[in-house]
Amino acid sequence: MRLTVLGCAGSFPGPESACSAYLVEAEGFRLLLDFGSGSLSALQRYSDMNSIDAIILTHLHSDHMLDACLYVVVRRYDPTGARPPVPVYAPLGAAERISAAYSSENEPMDDVYTFYGLQPGSFPIGPFTITVDRVNHPVETYGVRVEHGGKVLAYSADTAPCEALLRLAAGADLFLCEASYLDGVDNPPGLHLTGGEAGEAATKADVGRLLLTHLIPAWFSEASIVDAASAAYAGPVEVVRPGARYDL
Ligand SMILES: [Zn+2]
Ligand SMILES: [Zn+2]
Repeated sequence: MRLTVLGCAGSFPGPESACSAYLVEAEGFRLLLDFGSGSLSALQRYSDMNSIDAIILTHLHSDHMLDACLYVVVRRYDPTGARPPVPVYAPLGAAERISAAYSSENEPMDDVYTFYGLQPGSFPIGPFTITVDRVNHPVETYGVRVEHGGKVLAYSADTAPCEALLRLAAGADLFLCEASYLDGVDNPPGLHLTGGEAGEAATKADVGRLLLTHLIPAWFSEASIVDAASAAYAGPVEVVRPGARYDL
């Protein structure tokens, strides 16, 4: 299984990165985890934009799904002919949300996407075994566990600390975990993790490697977040970058 970071900027695009989007590949199958603002650009840089086999949208905040609107044009109006629908696993309401953001005409999206409503549980997508569960964020949001060939990638999506996150990440080889906030200050409750909280989750879940993402470099010091995470987790910690690839 290979993870390629397409975008990792938290909440809005940063100077060096689009918003959240991660390409997960195995056996020639390409699964996109989130499709945040600006990430369609990166998708073209690091892969063939037409070759996406399935998409998971962890939640319907703009920084995790907005380029699914622009991808409608890519599939529907390809000069060589319209592409077949792509399966999209997302919270209920994704079709309406994408349609509304695409245009004001309330047009159907089923020529481009086949929607499946996410619910807590495990199911196959291509060669992967996927497990999702509700995490702690103001809108319906799913953390994701991806298993293939005995290896495990866990992705926090956006979340404040919660038990579901620990279950999803348990024993993961790679834990791609958001770290949006600074420790030691008053943060809004029930939204995001600090670096320290990401580190604590990595320790409790006994993961092999912590990959920090969804940082907001315009607001918060990356070094502070990494230091806080490293103080709470003894294993390897790094902040992901667009174009970074991890084989597991
Ligand atoms: Zn976000
Ligand atoms: Zn969010």
